[in-house]
Amino acid sequence: MPIAENSREICLREKRLPMRMCLVCRKRFPKSELTRFVFTDGLPQEDAKQNLAGRGYYVCADGGCREKWLRRAARR
Ligand SMILES: [Zn+2]
Repeated sequence: MPIAENSREICLREKRLPMRMCLVCRKRFPKSELTRFVFTDGLPQEDAKQNLAGRGYYVCADGGCREKWLRRAARR
């Protein structure tokens, strides 16, 4: 069945490449293409080394997304 073959292929690809969703545009990207942010003392901090503790927020490198998310994060 062609459909089953396709979904199996997608499944395998996702296993090799962890995917995360951009919180702004909600598109999925390989984790390595996204910027991870963690809140430290209530402020969003870029987790450049991907080793900060806490809940990670992923935003894509697409022009507007990063700025939009930072503005939204600063409001709370
Ligand atoms: Zn985005």
